[in-house]
Amino acid sequence: LAGREACPERTVVDIGGVRIGGGRPVLIAGPCSAENPDVLMEAAAAVKASGASMLRVGIFKPRTSPYSYQGLGRDGLSALRDARQEFGLPIVSEVMSVRDLDAVADSVDLMQVGARNMQNYSLLVEIGRTGRPVLLKRGMAATVADWLNAAEYLLAYGCRDVVLCERGIRTFERTTRFTLDLNAVPVVKELSHLPVIVDPSHGTGASRYVAPMSAAAIAAGADGLIVEVHPRPDEALSDGDQSLDFEQFHALSAHVGRIAGAL
Ligand code: PEP
Ligand code: MN
Repeated sequence: LAGREACPERTVVDIGGVRIGGGRPVLIAGPCSAENPDVLMEAAAAVKASGASMLRVGIFKPRTSPYSYQGLGRDGLSALRDARQEFGLPIVSEVMSVRDLDAVADSVDLMQVGARNMQNYSLLVEIGRTGRPVLLKRGMAATVADWLNAAEYLLAYGCRDVVLCERGIRTFERTTRFTLDLNAVPVVKELSHLPVIVDPSHGTGASRYVAPMSAAAIAAGADGLIVEVHPRPDEALSDGDQSLDFEQFHALSAHVGRIAGAL
């Protein structure tokens, strides 16, 4: 179902009027974690003003250490609904567990499956059964074939709207947090009809590399970007090193807009 031969037309995923895969690249931005309603509202206002058309924000955080900040959890769901209401931006947020699936599905417009859960097949099956749109991140040790098979699970169990997201893979390279595999963009476009976006924040792990890799992703044909933005990155409770401040995001948005316009 995910393969090109299953669907000769490219899939356009429409999230409340925002069309992913419809030609113009979509900019999704926001904080790694909601942290508190003020950070979320501040970030939402700024990214909207700079041209983002969807808001990303985590409340269930898959942290590598159990002692790191774990996110607001269910208590954060109402903040997501408030942000959507106030700014009219569709919300992208991760669901980590089947236990929280109904609650997340009610409050989020595009449910994210994180890199660490890409091969959690029981989660994929249950998300598939909701029939709701999904942002499927590539596992950090997943081949493109593994990733498309994960998409296949979602589609086989009832999703129609799957957006793929390249977010960097583990390689021997240590100068960046992950290695952003931009090859995956044209490869996925050849193998699948599904839209593919790029996450240059997790893909590099360093805010100074986010703008050049965003530009490269758009030039490579990505259908959009998902970028971490925080009002004060040095105070962020998660992923501050790779988060842009508002000014940096504004510049990035203008730059990728010019590249998209020239394609
Ligand atoms: C995130 O989007 O904040 C996140 C945890 O992403 P990934 O699953 O790609 O690491
Ligand atoms: Mn993050």
